[in-house]
Amino acid sequence: MPRKKHLPVDQERLTLLRSARVEPVPGRCVQCGLCSWNCPTGVDVRVYARRGLRVDDPRCIKCGTCIARCPRAVLHFGTISGAVA
Ligand code: SF4
Ligand code: SF4
Repeated sequence: MPRKKHLPVDQERLTLLRSARVEPVPGRCVQCGLCSWNCPTGVDVRVYARRGLRVDDPRCIKCGTCIARCPRAVLHFGTISGAVA
């Protein structure tokens, strides 16, 4: 069986990576810091959550760890046109 030259492209993931940002639900964050503590690239997500701002840090690799770790379901992926996940 011939080897593939490239890995298959996950289009859904690619779209997410290009357009999504982590966003907080305003007013839900209790500033526990678990999101920042668990971010593998050192983004201080808590600061964005406190201010109610989307995470617009170039270090964000859209891994979703901060979303998964938040005990208050504050964070989600969204785009300018609306939530995607
Ligand atoms: S999605 Fe991943 S890289 Fe981006 S802020 Fe959250 S934990 Fe950090
Ligand atoms: S983990 Fe959730 S509640 Fe805790 S600081 Fe981050 S956004 Fe706020």
